[in-house]
Amino acid sequence: MGRVLLLSVLVAAAYAQTALDDGFLSTGERAVGEAEGRDAGEPLLDFHYHDHEQMTRFLRAISARYPALTALYSIGKSVQGRDLWVMVVSASPYEHMIGKPDVKYVANIHGNEAVGRELLLHLIQHFVTSYDSDPYIKWLLDNTRIHLMPSMNPDGFAISKEGQCDTIHGRANARRYDLNRNFPDYFKQNTKQPQPETDAVKEWISKIQFVLSGSLHGGALVASYPFDNTPNARMCRSSVLCSVFQSHAHSPSIAPDDDVFRHLSLIYSKNHAKMGRGVSCKSGSPRFENGITNGAAWYPLTGGMQDYNYLWHGCMEITLEISCCKYPPAHELPKYWQDNKQSMIKYLAEAHRGAHGFVMDENGNPVERAAVRVKGRDVVYHTTKYGEFWRILLPGTYRVDVSAEGYIPQEVEFIVIDSHPTLLNVTLHSAKGYVAQGRPKGRRPGPMRIGPYPSTSSTTPRTTALTDTIVFKE
Ligand SMILES: [Zn+2]
Repeated sequence: MGRVLLLSVLVAAAYAQTALDDGFLSTGERAVGEAEGRDAGEPLLDFHYHDHEQMTRFLRAISARYPALTALYSIGKSVQGRDLWVMVVSASPYEHMIGKPDVKYVANIHGNEAVGRELLLHLIQHFVTSYDSDPYIKWLLDNTRIHLMPSMNPDGFAISKEGQCDTIHGRANARRYDLNRNFPDYFKQNTKQPQPETDAVKEWISKIQFVLSGSLHGGALVASYPFDNTPNARMCRSSVLCSVFQSHAHSPSIAPDDDVFRHLSLIYSKNHAKMGRGVSCKSGSPRFENGITNGAAWYPLTGGMQDYNYLWHGCMEITLEISCCKYPPAHELPKYWQDNKQSMIKYLAEAHRGAHGFVMDENGNPVERAAVRVKGRDVVYHTTKYGEFWRILLPGTYRVDVSAEGYIPQEVEFIVIDSHPTLLNVTLHSAKGYVAQGRPKGRRPGPMRIGPYPSTSSTTPRTTALTDTIVFKE
C-alpha cells in the first residue's frame, strides 16, 4: 500500500509541474509579490479565504515552483469527490529521511472552523520562502518531513459562511457525520459509520510513522491534549445516557505521557500571542490556565482523532483551538497568522525532543516491529521497517524495554537532556541458542550500543517509511 501512496505522490507531482502554466497568478489570485518587486513567478498568498479550487491551484503552484522543497499528494477524496490534499514541506519531500521524524498538521476537520485551513497555506508559503534566509527554518526542514493537510473536510467548508462564529453549519461532512467523532475509540466502541475522510486519514497514518501532530480547530483558544475520552465512558449503556454522563464528568483522563502532552501544549500556548494567558473567549466560556487543558477535563468525547493517533499509532497529537470565532472575517486573518506563526513552527520542532534511534540485530540489520516500551508508561511504540523509533520525553533518566519475536529482550537505561535528543541504538541478539538461565550460549547478553547512525547501504530502498500498528497496552 505504501507504493500506492508513493505513486499518488508522484502523480500529484507530475501534474503539479504544469500548475504554473495553468496560471495560479492568472486566476484571480492577487500577486502581492509583484507589487513588492519580488519574482513575478512566485505564487503568493493573500489574506482571504480560498475555496477548494483556489486552494488546489495554490498548492499546485507552490509544488511546481519549489520542487526541491515540496511534494503534493492526495490521500483520498471527500464524500463529494474533493481531494484531501497534503503538502509535504522538507528538504526531502519525496523520501522519508531515515532517522529523521515525519510530523503533520491537519486543519479544517470541522468544515466551518476555517482559520487553521488558511494558516496552513501561509505556513507552507512561509517555509518555502524562508528556507534560504532563515537558518532555523532551514534546520527544521533539513531534519524534519512536515506534512500539512489544510482541509480534512472540504465539503463542510464549501457550505460554511464567513463571519459565522458559533454555528454548526458546515461542521460535519456531506453525510452529516462529525469527523472528529468518527475514529475508533479505545475507551468505548464507536458505532458511527466510518466516513471516507476518516478512512483516508486512518490509512495515511498507518503508512507513515508520524511522531508529532496538531489538529487545528476554532471556537475556543486552548491547546487540548489526550485523553479526550475517559474510562468512565465504558459505563455508559446508551448513547443518550452516555452523552449526559460524559458532559457532566469533567474529570481529567490522564494519558501515560501526560507530562509530555502538557509540555507540548504549553509550547504551543506560550509561543502564541494570547493563548498562554488563558483568557476566556467571552464571559461565561471557560478559562484555561496557561491556555491548556486535558481533553476529557474540558468535555469528554468518543471517536476523536487525537486519542486515535496516540493509541493506535504512537503519534503524539494535540488539538489546537486557535480562534474564538470559528469563521472570522478575512480581514482578521493577518492577526491570526501573526498570533500563531511562532507556535506552529516551535511545536513541530518538538519532534526532536527525547530519545530516538534504531533497533538492529547482531548483523546490523534493522529489526522491524520491535516493541519499545518506556517503563512506567503503559504504551508500546513499534519500530519502523528501518528499525527506527522515536520517543518524545522530557529531561530525566528512563529505562526502556525493547523486545521482538525471536530475539532476547533488552532493558536499557538512558538519559534525556533538554538541549538535544538522545540517540539510542539497541542491538537485539537472536534467541537461537538462548538456553538455561537466559543467557546466550558462549556470550554475554549484548549490551546497548550508543553510537552514530548506522550506515544505510545504497541498496536500501529509501521510500516513504511505512509502519505498522502501535499497540496500546491496557
Ligand atoms: Zn472543531
